Amino acid sequence: MKLCKGALHSEGVWLPADTDHFFKRSAGLSDQFQSQCRQCRAHYNRKTPRQAYGWVKVHRVQFIFIELENRVGRKEAARRCKINSAPWKKIIESKQQHVEKETLRRAIEQLRICRSNNEVRNRRDIQYGSAKRGLPEKPPTERKDFYRPHGDTDTEMRRKSADRA
Ligand SMILES: [Zn+2]
Repeated sequence: MKLCKGALHSEGVWLPADTDHFFKRSAGLSDQFQSQCRQCRAHYNRKTPRQAYGWVKVHRVQFIFIELENRVGRKEAARRCKINSAPWKKIIESKQQHVEKETLRRAIEQLRICRSNNEVRNRRDIQYGSAKRGLPEKPPTERKDFYRPHGDTDTEMRRKSADRA
């Protein structure tokens, strides 16, 4: 038996752990079942636009995540959207096709806050974690102060690998 606490079973329901009740997980973990039952998954994946549950194509909303990251840095941006930096990276680098609506909602909310406060952090402060160490932060004044001075991710990755070489 396996406990489902998905959208339709928020109170928690024990179901037989078999392929009639659960989908298998994907790549690498295909011997395991997903944590939500088939019914809950189907409900969750339904593509009705007004529904709070569901997924949105990453390429349509990626700019939101990118702007947020450019303003506050990757770890902080992911933290504010309540996801780990590994899935965040996948969104930024287009290695993930879809993003959860709930995550998107948080990202929009956080970006709106950043924009209204005009919050842009200096890359040194981001890397050093000045805010967490309780140190004063220097607002960026020149291009190299920005988290991603060259703008787009591709240029940035090439630049970083050139630095390392
Ligand atoms: Zn369920």
